[in-house]
Amino acid sequence: MIDPFGRNITYLRMSVTDRCDFRCVYCMAEDMHFLPKQDLLSLEELERAAIAFIRLGVRKLRLTGGEPLVRRGLMALVNRLGQRIGNGLDELTLTTNGSQLVRFADELAAAGVRRVNVSIDTLDETKFTKITRWGRLPQVLKGVEAAESAGLHVKINMVALKGVNESEIDAMLTWCGARGHDLCLIETMPLGEIDGDRTDQYLPLSEVRARLERNWTLAPTNYATGGPARYYEVAETGTRVGFITPLTHNFCEGCNRVRLTCTGTLFMCLGQEDAADLRTVLRSSQSDEALEKAIRAAIARKPKGHDFVIDRTHNRPALGRHMSVTGG
Ligand code: SAM
Ligand code: SF4
Repeated sequence: MIDPFGRNITYLRMSVTDRCDFRCVYCMAEDMHFLPKQDLLSLEELERAAIAFIRLGVRKLRLTGGEPLVRRGLMALVNRLGQRIGNGLDELTLTTNGSQLVRFADELAAAGVRRVNVSIDTLDETKFTKITRWGRLPQVLKGVEAAESAGLHVKINMVALKGVNESEIDAMLTWCGARGHDLCLIETMPLGEIDGDRTDQYLPLSEVRARLERNWTLAPTNYATGGPARYYEVAETGTRVGFITPLTHNFCEGCNRVRLTCTGTLFMCLGQEDAADLRTVLRSSQSDEALEKAIRAAIARKPKGHDFVIDRTHNRPALGRHMSVTGG
C-alpha cells in the first residue's frame, strides 16, 4: 500500500478495546464513559480486519487500547495473529500498562510476541497512583519481571509531565539501563477531554534531552522500530533512549502507520479527523474484496501530516477523541 506521498504503509496499530483498569490523568477523565459493547469490533472482526491489512502489505502489527490485556478472550486473537508471523507478518507487538502481564507474559511469548512496550511514568509508588489513579506500581513491576522471564524484550514508555515526573527521568534511565530496557519518552498530546489542563503538563522533549545530556552521553542512531521515535544510544548503559515529539517536531515525512480503533474506524493520521468506517464494511459483507477496496481507498487519502495544536485560548484538546479509543 503506497500512499499519495510515496510512503509505504506497513504498520498497523490496532486498538482492541477502549476500556482500561487505570485512569491516567493525561489520558482519561476518572468517570470516563466507555463505548457500548455492540459498537466494538468482535474478536473475529478484529482478526478479519488485521488479516486484510496483512494481505495488503502490513508487516508489523501492534495491539493497543485502552488496555489490550483487559479485553476478554484477547489471547485467542493473539494466538491466531501469531500464526501469521513469518507468513506475511514480521512482528506482532503490544503496548500495555503492565497490570496483567504476570498472567499473560508466557502466553504472549508462546504466541510469537517478542517485544512489549510497558508504560511506566514514575518509579515512585505514591506518584504512580496519583498519575494512573487506579494503578499499583508493584503489580506493574512484577509484570515487567514476568515479561523478562518469558524472554520478551521490554521497552518502557514514559510520558514526560512538567512538574510531575520531570525530575525522575535520569532515575528511570538508570533503572532501564540496569535491566537492559530501552526507554521511550513521550510528549503529552492534545487528544480527548480530560479533567485537568494539559497545557500545564506539557514539557518539550528538546528540553529534556538537553538536560539528560548533562549526565549521559547520547549518540544519535538510525535505529528505528517502525514507530515515530528518534533514538539515541546511551554510552553509559548500552541501551537506547527514544523521543516521541509530536508537537515540537514533525515526524510525518517517514510515517508508515495507520490506526484502527476498537470500533473499526481507520485513522490514516493520529492528528487528523479524516477516517474510514471499516465496521460497516465488515458487517455488511463477508467479502474480503469489499474490505480491501475500502482500505485501499482510505490509504489513497492519507494526509501529508498532522495538525496538532493545543487550543490554548479555549483550553481544549485539538482533537476530541481519546488516545484510548484511537490506540496509543
Ligand atoms: N494502556 C496501554 C498503555 O498505557 O500502555 C496502551 C494504550 S495507551 C493509550 C498507549 C500510550 O499512550 C501509553 O504509553 C500512554 O502513556 C500514552 N498516552 C495516553 N494518552 C496520551 C496523551 N494524551 N499524550 C501522550 N501520550 C499519551
Ligand atoms: Fe489506560 Fe493506557 Fe490510558 Fe493509562 S494511558 S488510562 S493505562 S489506556
